[in-house]
Amino acid sequence: MSWRYSYYDKPSVAEQRKIAEARRKELERKHGELQPIVIEGKKIARNWWGIAWNKNLESYADLANRIERGRSYCKNGFILDLRISEGEITATVSGSSVYNVKIHIEKLSAGKWGSIVAACAKRVENIGTLVEGRFPQELADVFMKQGEGLFPNPKEISMSCDCPDFAMLCKHIAAVLYGVGARLDSDPLLFFQLRGVDPGELIKKSVEEKMRNLLANAGKKSERVIADNDVARLFGV
Ligand SMILES: [Zn+2]
Repeated sequence: MSWRYSYYDKPSVAEQRKIAEARRKELERKHGELQPIVIEGKKIARNWWGIAWNKNLESYADLANRIERGRSYCKNGFILDLRISEGEITATVSGSSVYNVKIHIEKLSAGKWGSIVAACAKRVENIGTLVEGRFPQELADVFMKQGEGLFPNPKEISMSCDCPDFAMLCKHIAAVLYGVGARLDSDPLLFFQLRGVDPGELIKKSVEEKMRNLLANAGKKSERVIADNDVARLFGV
């Protein structure tokens, strides 16, 4: 591909942004629409899940030092494509050339997930409150707890990039790790897909409890009518 540049004739950031944009368009012509990371304003993430993702990475000192340089890459629009699926993140990043990043994240263990589901019992009202991060602080602490919460620790993350940088964690991988925070900001449910768990389980107990109460107070209403109206309300549809 054209526009390859070396460390010594590195263009300005403004030029690099233009190059990234041109590369994205060229890739789209060849492969169809991409899913770039576009940051509006100064912050990479504004909502609970995106902020929590970044906070978790930065809570490990060793990782925090190495991913710092990925911030500006992420903010400058150098992530041309980023996709999240179960246990895997794949991305294309514009640097001195175009590089492909793969990040594998271990699935959340059944044991950890079980204790998180138990901690959530009756405390998360519906999927809406879950994705918006409107749950009690104690629960946020459970989700964020290092090694036991929902977020991966560095040992559960393996990463690769096809750039010539010999560093274990090059700036392209660093950018993508932040890019995940940005993507989760707009689509928090992808977090659960990434970790291979069903977020519905976190609200199930709360919903069951509410349904029991509703049915107990239902008087002459039929169970069917209650189910239709109130399930819709509980799920925020
Ligand atoms: Zn790289």
